[in-house]
Formats: sequence, structure tokens, C-alpha cells
Amino acid sequence: MKKISNKSLEKFFKIGINSLKSNDTEFLSKFNCNNGCYDCISKKSGEDIFSLNEDRLKGEKILLEGVEATINKKFWSIAKYLSQVSSEFILVTNGRVFSYDHWTNKIASIEPNRIIVKMFGCNENEHDEHTQISGSYNQTIQGIRNLRSKGLTVRIVFYVEKILDKKYSSLTEIQEYINLSYSLTNTLPIQFNSIGNNRCEIETIVTKKTQEGEQEIVHPGKYRYDMLTYLGDEVPHAWRNSHFPMIHILTGPACNIKCIYCNVHGGDKQTQFVYEFDYVKKMIDDAIKRGLHLQKGLPILDLIGGEPTLHPNLGQLILYAKRSGFKYVAICTNGIKLAKKSYLNELLETGLDAIRFSFHSHLEEEAATLAHAPSTGKKYLSTANLLLEQKRIVTYFYRILLSTTVESFPQYVEWLIDNNNTGRKIYLNVGMPSPRGRMFINSHLYPNLEICREVVTQVVNKYSSQELEITLHHSPGCLIPNRPELSATNNLEARQYEIGLDKPVILNFEGDTQYTENCKKCISYHKCPGVPHYYLSQDQNAVEKWVRPQS
Ligand code: SF4
Ligand code: SF4
Repeated sequence: MKKISNKSLEKFFKIGINSLKSNDTEFLSKFNCNNGCYDCISKKSGEDIFSLNEDRLKGEKILLEGVEATINKKFWSIAKYLSQVSSEFILVTNGRVFSYDHWTNKIASIEPNRIIVKMFGCNENEHDEHTQISGSYNQTIQGIRNLRSKGLTVRIVFYVEKILDKKYSSLTEIQEYINLSYSLTNTLPIQFNSIGNNRCEIETIVTKKTQEGEQEIVHPGKYRYDMLTYLGDEVPHAWRNSHFPMIHILTGPACNIKCIYCNVHGGDKQTQFVYEFDYVKKMIDDAIKRGLHLQKGLPILDLIGGEPTLHPNLGQLILYAKRSGFKYVAICTNGIKLAKKSYLNELLETGLDAIRFSFHSHLEEEAATLAHAPSTGKKYLSTANLLLEQKRIVTYFYRILLSTTVESFPQYVEWLIDNNNTGRKIYLNVGMPSPRGRMFINSHLYPNLEICREVVTQVVNKYSSQELEITLHHSPGCLIPNRPELSATNNLEARQYEIGLDKPVILNFEGDTQYTENCKKCISYHKCPGVPHYYLSQDQNAVEKWVRPQS
């Protein structure tokens, strides 16, 4: 391994070291950049406050910033070194070089823990006007997509005055930035606590008052939950028996499988934890305090994960939600643990009302392949059969259409109907893969759009509403033309609540999607998220022909 001298580090980069063990330290020197921002946020010079030695780097959490570090010829050897010696290596970049596959492959081989991409706007005009480089926005966006296609963790930081100066009075004012960040990285943008001085935080650290009046430090993503609301005045056919508004409360991201299309990277090492019982209770209390359990419709509290059955207190949480005032409580599960009848019965005894069951194939081998968990195929089938016997509880089946499974969709529906002993119709939500999470890595799983439309239309036309009630989610609103009422994207709105903030943020995003020219003629334009970018990147004309603008 090539040793990097302190001198070379000092010469080219500003290194911010953010460690719990030591004070933040950085040193400054000369930089280069491939953007030409009219108001550069990086300091060009500064006092050398730190004399760095390699021992000091070992085991540290390192934040590497340039102005644009990646364009320096020493970058690769230094990045490799930092990745090897640090406890955590985070690269800050404008992301443009990663629009080229070659550079993306190279950084993927170095495996930084996280890449933070600097952006200066949430659209081409705003961004490029700031960088003074035409096309820089598109390169940065492509860079993020490429990095995610290698499975790298990416976060966005917006250097936009209204965000940095906290001039906004509510999160809704920076809605567009939130949406862009969510669509590309699955998460909120991060914020450095201070820019241009000697101290940077890796993430915004927010202090909040707890209910007991104590100060508590929380990280982004905590103390948030969301609610899906039906947008229409009257609930049409397909939604009549669904429970809306639906309040999703996260029990923790841990999961016991690793679905190949998962939009939250379930099962990855860094997400294997559950939230404490009291923390989840706080979300339920907040929802009650806001009166969400009394909203118009059939409000339901839905405990989600990762995989909520991994929470050791799931039963108690269901009981708590019911006693607090939620009339209907559901869980959203992959069903693996429910294959054990005694566990299912335990949950049923708490008064659980509904189960949203991710049951993506009725074929053992195929189900296990999708879950990326070899021994699970039998369990899916056992759970499906157990739930198809339950008369008291409602099960909503979820089926994803992937390139490898789309054609067997009609047989799957037949299997459900043949095995249905619930005495009521089958509730089925069918969707295309959400363009987030592992779909950045496994883009070959996107199903053919024409085949999707064909098989879903065939199923909708074949079964009566007594046998099957079908809704579409995670799909363009015109997947079945002329039936826009079946589409969740056209009819539901997601609001995110955060303890301590009065107003919710509207989160209508489906991940990395785009509109076509024809979409602009559609009455659902802006309500529907459009078509996954993947399809447009493959054949824009074909997608243009496929969309069916609604009038
Ligand atoms: S069960 Fe859900 S959270 Fe777990 S890997 Fe599959 S899709 Fe992701
Ligand atoms: S035409 Fe475009 S905007 Fe309209 S429903 Fe289809 S994908 Fe959505």
C-alpha cells in the first residue's frame, strides 16, 4: 500500500475529522473545482490549524472535502488510504465525475462509507445558474444514479440559501428539495450545521424537548411518521374496504430477509436494529394528540418496518395503539414469522385487525429467490394458507411485478382465489417495483411496460368484484388506461409528521421517476409521479407511446 505523507494530504485537501473521541479538526490548503460557482461555499485559504500525522487518522471518522476533491490527480490514492485506515470515510463531492461509469467503478472499489453530494438547486436552471456550468445538474443527477447503482450510500446536501440560513419557517417551504432528495437517495437531504468555518457536522443534530421536558439529541429521520390520505371526495369502488387514512409508524428498519427489489435496503447490516418500545409509543401518542385516529374515513394505524414482527414488543404495541384510541390496527409484514401458527395466534389475540402481507409469488422457489433467502419459500406458502383461512382478520395481499415474475401474475391470482377460505373477496395490491433502494442496483428487474399493462388488464377484466378487489400501487397512474380510480398514485397523498413540527410535509414521491412530454397533457400530471427514469433511459420514444394521458 502506498503511504501518503502528511505533506501531500495538506497540499490538496481539506480534511474534516469528526470524531466522538477528539475535537473536530481540519486544515486547509489549495483546491481546484470543475464547477465555477459564483459564490463558492468552500474556503480558498485558511490557517493551518492541524498538523496531521497518520496515527491520528487511524480509527477516526473522516470527512473528505475538496473544493472538488475528486478531480485532483492524488485523489484516488488518498481516498484509498483513508478508506483503509479510518473507522468511517465520508466523501463530499459535487458528483459530476461519477456521471462516468469509469469513475463510479473506481470509487465503488474503494467503498467509502458514505458519499455526500453537494447540490445548488433542485432543478437544472437553479443549479446550473449557480455553478455557471451548463449541464452540471444533469451530470450530478446521473452521478448519483450511478453511485446508487453500485450500492453506495448517497446523501444530498443542498447549498441553497433558504435551507442553509434556516429562513424557511416550515419544511413545506423546502418541499421540492426534500422530494428530489427522497427520489434519488430514499431519504431527506442532510444539512451541515455550519458552512465555511472550521466545524462541520456529518448530519444535522437536532435538539428536541422530550415530553418530560428534557433535552434530547436526535438525528434526521427520527420522530417522523407518515399518513396516507385518500384525495377524492367519495371513496370509489376499489378503496371502499381499505382503511384510509393509513398512519404508518416505523418499528425499526431491521429485516429478516433481503428482497432483491427492496426499496429500503432491508436486511443490510447497518439497518439491523429496532426502535425502543417507548420511542414507538411516542409516535403513537403524537398521532393521537393530532387527532389522526378521528380523521374522516376509517383511520388505521399500520406498524411497519423493515419487518415489524422482529420487534420484541409488537403485541404490546398493537395493544397500546388500540387502547390509545385507534379502532383499527394493522401490520405490514413479509409473513415469514407468521408461518408459526402460535405466533400468528398471539398477534391475533391482541386484537390486530388487518395484515398487509408481502406475498410476491405462490411458487416456493420463486418466492425464496425474490426474498434472497433460500429457505423461506415454504414459509411464504404456509403463511398465505393460514391467512386465507382467517375469517376475522382482513389480509391485503401485495404482489410486485418484476421482469422475472410478471408473466406468472394471472396464475398467482388464480391460486389466491382457489385457496381463499376467508368467506370474503381477495384484496390485492399489485405494483411495479418502486424506483428506489435495490432497484438502483438491480435495474434488470424492471418489467416490460407493455407486458405489465397486458397482464394487469387481463386480471382486472377477468374477475368479478365479488372475487377480487384490486388496487395498483407504485406504478404510473395510467398502467390500466381508463381505470384511474384503481391507482394509488392518482388517489393517495402521503404526509409526513414530525414531533415538534406543527404542519406535515407532503411527500408525494415514488423514487426516481420522470414525466414524458405526453404526461404534460394529462390531468394527473403532478398528482401521478410519472414513469421510472429507468424506462426513459432505455427507450424514451417507447415510453412516450406507452403513457396514456388522462383527460
Ligand atoms: S421484507 Fe420488506 S423490508 Fe424486508 S427486505 Fe423485503 S421489502 Fe425490504
Ligand atoms: S400520462 Fe403520465 S402523468 Fe398521466 S397517468 Fe400516465 S404516467 Fe401519469
